[in-house]
Amino acid sequence: MVKAVMDISQRLLNISELFYSIQGESTYAGLPCVFIRLAGCNLRCRYCDARYTYEEAHATMTMDAILSFMDGYPGTLVEITGGEPLLQESVHSLIEQLLAKGHTVLLETNGSLPINTIAPEVIVVMDIKTPDSGSAETLASGNIASAKERNRTIPGSCEIKFVLTGRNDYIWARDLVNREALNMSCPTLFSPVKGELSPEDLASWILQDQLSVRLQLQLHTLIWPHLSRGI
Ligand code: SF4
Repeated sequence: MVKAVMDISQRLLNISELFYSIQGESTYAGLPCVFIRLAGCNLRCRYCDARYTYEEAHATMTMDAILSFMDGYPGTLVEITGGEPLLQESVHSLIEQLLAKGHTVLLETNGSLPINTIAPEVIVVMDIKTPDSGSAETLASGNIASAKERNRTIPGSCEIKFVLTGRNDYIWARDLVNREALNMSCPTLFSPVKGELSPEDLASWILQDQLSVRLQLQLHTLIWPHLSRGI
Protein backbone atom coordinates (compact mmCIF):
# COMPACT_ATOMS: atom_id res chain seq x y z
CA MET A 1 0.00 0.00 0.00
CA VAL A 2 2.76 2.44 1.02
CA LYS A 3 4.67 1.43 -2.10
CA ALA A 4 1.67 2.27 -4.36
CA VAL A 5 1.37 5.76 -2.83
CA MET A 6 5.10 6.36 -3.36
CA ASP A 7 4.84 5.25 -6.99
CA ILE A 8 2.09 7.77 -7.71
CA SER A 9 4.04 10.57 -6.07
CA GLN A 10 7.01 9.88 -8.34
CA ARG A 11 5.02 9.69 -11.58
CA LEU A 12 6.28 12.15 -14.16
CA LEU A 13 4.51 14.73 -16.26
CA ASN A 14 5.92 16.93 -19.01
CA ILE A 15 5.03 20.46 -18.02
CA SER A 16 5.17 23.52 -20.21
CA GLU A 17 4.19 26.01 -17.50
CA LEU A 18 2.62 26.21 -14.07
CA PHE A 19 1.13 29.51 -12.93
CA TYR A 20 -1.60 31.31 -11.03
CA SER A 21 -3.80 33.76 -12.93
CA ILE A 22 -7.36 34.75 -13.76
CA GLN A 23 -9.36 32.15 -15.63
CA GLY A 24 -10.04 33.75 -19.00
CA GLU A 25 -12.39 31.25 -20.64
CA SER A 26 -15.33 28.93 -19.99
CA THR A 27 -18.20 29.64 -17.62
CA TYR A 28 -15.54 29.93 -14.87
CA ALA A 29 -14.03 33.07 -16.48
CA GLY A 30 -13.01 35.71 -13.98
CA LEU A 31 -12.08 33.37 -11.15
CA PRO A 32 -8.55 33.04 -9.77
CA CYS A 33 -7.15 29.76 -11.07
CA VAL A 34 -3.97 27.70 -11.09
CA PHE A 35 -3.01 26.52 -14.57
CA ILE A 36 -1.10 23.30 -15.14
CA ARG A 37 -0.13 23.44 -18.80
CA LEU A 38 1.10 20.12 -20.10
CA ALA A 39 3.60 19.94 -22.95
CA GLY A 40 2.91 18.36 -26.34
CA CYS A 41 0.03 18.44 -28.78
CA ASN A 42 -1.11 16.09 -31.53
CA LEU A 43 -2.73 18.89 -33.58
CA ARG A 44 -1.34 21.96 -35.35
CA CYS A 45 -4.13 24.54 -35.45
CA ARG A 46 -3.47 27.47 -37.74
CA TYR A 47 -4.18 30.07 -35.04
CA CYS A 48 -2.47 28.23 -32.16
CA ASP A 49 -1.38 30.60 -29.39
CA ALA A 50 0.40 27.88 -27.42
CA ARG A 51 2.98 26.65 -29.95
CA TYR A 52 5.62 26.79 -27.24
CA THR A 53 3.98 23.72 -25.66
CA TYR A 54 5.23 21.59 -28.55
CA GLU A 55 7.99 23.69 -30.11
CA GLU A 56 10.00 24.61 -27.03
CA ALA A 57 11.66 22.77 -24.17
CA HIS A 58 9.54 21.63 -21.26
CA ALA A 59 10.19 20.58 -17.67
CA THR A 60 9.62 17.05 -16.43
CA MET A 61 8.10 17.16 -12.94
CA THR A 62 7.08 14.53 -10.45
CA MET A 63 3.52 14.43 -9.19
CA ASP A 64 4.92 15.40 -5.80
CA ALA A 65 6.54 18.56 -7.14
CA ILE A 66 3.31 19.61 -8.87
CA LEU A 67 1.26 18.94 -5.74
CA SER A 68 3.77 20.90 -3.63
CA PHE A 69 3.19 23.87 -5.92
CA MET A 70 -0.56 23.40 -5.46
CA ASP A 71 -0.11 23.48 -1.67
CA GLY A 72 0.41 27.23 -2.07
CA TYR A 73 -3.15 27.55 -3.41
CA PRO A 74 -5.44 25.48 -1.18
CA GLY A 75 -8.96 25.04 -2.52
CA THR A 76 -8.25 27.09 -5.63
CA LEU A 77 -9.82 26.31 -8.98
CA VAL A 78 -7.29 24.48 -11.14
CA GLU A 79 -7.18 23.99 -14.90
CA ILE A 80 -5.20 21.28 -16.61
CA THR A 81 -4.55 22.37 -20.16
CA GLY A 82 -2.02 22.09 -22.97
CA GLY A 83 -1.08 21.36 -25.63
CA GLU A 84 -3.26 18.31 -25.31
CA PRO A 85 -3.27 17.05 -21.71
CA LEU A 86 -4.87 13.68 -22.49
CA LEU A 87 -1.72 12.61 -24.37
CA GLN A 88 -0.06 11.95 -21.01
CA GLU A 89 -1.43 8.93 -19.19
CA SER A 90 -0.34 10.27 -15.78
CA VAL A 91 -2.82 13.12 -16.13
CA HIS A 92 -5.47 10.80 -14.67
CA SER A 93 -3.41 10.25 -11.50
CA LEU A 94 -2.89 14.00 -11.24
CA ILE A 95 -6.64 14.58 -11.50
CA GLU A 96 -7.25 11.99 -8.79
CA GLN A 97 -4.80 13.73 -6.45
CA LEU A 98 -6.20 17.22 -7.12
CA LEU A 99 -9.77 16.08 -6.51
CA ALA A 100 -8.67 14.36 -3.29
CA LYS A 101 -7.20 17.69 -2.15
CA GLY A 102 -10.58 19.34 -2.70
CA HIS A 103 -9.84 21.32 -5.85
CA THR A 104 -12.42 21.99 -8.54
CA VAL A 105 -10.67 20.69 -11.65
CA LEU A 106 -11.19 21.93 -15.20
CA LEU A 107 -9.58 20.06 -18.07
CA GLU A 108 -9.32 21.61 -21.51
CA THR A 109 -8.95 19.20 -24.41
CA ASN A 110 -8.82 19.58 -28.19
CA GLY A 111 -11.45 16.84 -28.57
CA SER A 112 -9.29 14.46 -30.58
CA LEU A 113 -9.02 11.85 -27.81
CA PRO A 114 -11.88 10.10 -26.01
CA ILE A 115 -13.19 12.10 -23.06
CA ASN A 116 -14.99 9.16 -21.48
CA THR A 117 -11.71 8.25 -19.72
CA ILE A 118 -11.85 11.43 -17.59
CA ALA A 119 -13.11 11.27 -14.00
CA PRO A 120 -16.78 12.36 -13.83
CA GLU A 121 -16.06 15.06 -11.22
CA VAL A 122 -13.88 17.00 -13.68
CA ILE A 123 -15.35 19.87 -15.69
CA VAL A 124 -14.23 19.15 -19.22
CA VAL A 125 -13.94 21.99 -21.73
CA MET A 126 -13.85 20.33 -25.14
CA ASP A 127 -12.92 22.09 -28.37
CA ILE A 128 -14.66 21.07 -31.55
CA LYS A 129 -12.27 22.06 -34.32
CA THR A 130 -13.88 23.97 -37.19
CA PRO A 131 -13.25 23.64 -40.97
CA ASP A 132 -10.85 26.62 -41.10
CA SER A 133 -8.88 25.73 -37.96
CA GLY A 134 -6.33 23.66 -39.81
CA SER A 135 -7.33 20.70 -37.60
CA ALA A 136 -10.79 19.95 -38.97
CA GLU A 137 -12.38 16.54 -38.57
CA THR A 138 -10.23 15.55 -35.62
CA LEU A 139 -13.07 15.12 -33.14
CA ALA A 140 -12.93 11.63 -31.66
CA SER A 141 -16.00 9.62 -32.55
CA GLY A 142 -18.29 9.33 -29.56
CA ASN A 143 -17.13 12.58 -27.92
CA ILE A 144 -20.37 14.46 -28.61
CA ALA A 145 -22.38 11.61 -27.08
CA SER A 146 -19.94 11.50 -24.13
CA ALA A 147 -20.28 15.28 -23.62
CA LYS A 148 -24.06 15.00 -23.47
CA GLU A 149 -23.86 12.00 -21.16
CA ARG A 150 -21.51 13.84 -18.76
CA ASN A 151 -23.99 16.72 -18.55
CA ARG A 152 -26.90 14.33 -18.04
CA THR A 153 -25.04 12.81 -15.07
CA ILE A 154 -23.57 16.03 -13.66
CA PRO A 155 -25.06 19.20 -15.24
CA GLY A 156 -22.35 21.60 -16.42
CA SER A 157 -19.60 18.97 -16.37
CA CYS A 158 -18.72 19.27 -20.06
CA GLU A 159 -18.57 22.59 -21.89
CA ILE A 160 -18.17 22.72 -25.67
CA LYS A 161 -16.00 25.37 -27.25
CA PHE A 162 -15.82 26.48 -30.89
CA VAL A 163 -12.94 28.78 -31.85
CA LEU A 164 -14.10 30.63 -34.95
CA THR A 165 -11.99 32.24 -37.65
CA GLY A 166 -14.80 33.75 -39.75
CA ARG A 167 -18.29 33.44 -41.20
CA ASN A 168 -17.67 30.00 -42.71
CA ASP A 169 -16.68 28.57 -39.32
CA TYR A 170 -19.62 30.31 -37.65
CA ILE A 171 -22.17 28.80 -40.02
CA TRP A 172 -20.61 25.34 -39.64
CA ALA A 173 -20.63 25.59 -35.84
CA ARG A 174 -24.16 27.03 -35.72
CA ASP A 175 -25.49 24.21 -37.90
CA LEU A 176 -23.76 21.57 -35.77
CA VAL A 177 -25.12 23.10 -32.56
CA ASN A 178 -28.65 23.11 -34.01
CA ARG A 179 -28.41 19.63 -35.55
CA GLU A 180 -27.13 18.05 -32.34
CA ALA A 181 -29.12 20.34 -30.00
CA LEU A 182 -25.74 20.76 -28.30
CA ASN A 183 -26.66 23.94 -26.44
CA MET A 184 -29.66 22.18 -24.89
CA SER A 185 -27.40 19.84 -22.93
CA CYS A 186 -23.93 21.41 -22.85
CA PRO A 187 -22.80 24.95 -22.01
CA THR A 188 -21.68 26.04 -25.50
CA LEU A 189 -19.04 28.71 -26.08
CA PHE A 190 -18.32 30.60 -29.31
CA SER A 191 -14.93 32.33 -29.28
CA PRO A 192 -13.48 34.52 -32.08
CA VAL A 193 -9.86 34.18 -33.18
CA LYS A 194 -8.19 37.48 -32.37
CA GLY A 195 -7.28 39.43 -35.51
CA GLU A 196 -9.41 37.21 -37.76
CA LEU A 197 -12.99 37.61 -36.54
CA SER A 198 -14.19 40.66 -34.66
CA PRO A 199 -16.22 40.14 -31.46
CA GLU A 200 -18.72 42.62 -32.91
CA ASP A 201 -19.36 40.53 -36.03
CA LEU A 202 -19.67 37.33 -34.00
CA ALA A 203 -22.05 39.01 -31.55
CA SER A 204 -24.25 40.29 -34.37
CA TRP A 205 -24.46 36.85 -36.03
CA ILE A 206 -25.40 35.19 -32.72
CA LEU A 207 -28.10 37.81 -32.15
CA GLN A 208 -29.41 37.62 -35.74
CA ASP A 209 -29.82 33.86 -35.41
CA GLN A 210 -31.11 34.08 -31.82
CA LEU A 211 -28.61 31.35 -31.09
CA SER A 212 -28.44 30.47 -27.42
CA VAL A 213 -24.67 30.14 -27.05
CA ARG A 214 -22.21 32.07 -24.92
CA LEU A 215 -19.95 34.58 -26.68
CA GLN A 216 -16.54 34.15 -25.12
CA LEU A 217 -13.69 36.62 -25.27
CA GLN A 218 -10.36 35.60 -23.76
CA LEU A 219 -10.51 37.67 -20.59
CA HIS A 220 -6.81 37.18 -19.76
CA THR A 221 -5.77 38.69 -23.12
CA LEU A 222 -7.88 41.76 -22.38
CA ILE A 223 -6.32 42.17 -18.93
CA TRP A 224 -2.73 41.52 -20.09
CA PRO A 225 -2.61 42.34 -23.84
CA HIS A 226 1.20 42.63 -23.74
CA LEU A 227 1.76 39.10 -22.36
CA SER A 228 1.50 35.79 -24.22
CA ARG A 229 2.55 33.33 -21.50
CA GLY A 230 1.88 32.82 -17.84
CA ILE A 231 -1.61 34.35 -18.08
S1 SF4 B 1 -5.11 21.90 -30.04
FE1 SF4 B 1 -4.63 23.77 -28.92
S2 SF4 B 1 -2.45 23.58 -28.39
FE2 SF4 B 1 -2.88 22.05 -29.99
S3 SF4 B 1 -2.33 23.07 -31.90
FE3 SF4 B 1 -4.55 23.40 -31.57
S4 SF4 B 1 -4.70 25.37 -30.49
FE4 SF4 B 1 -2.56 24.67 -30.34
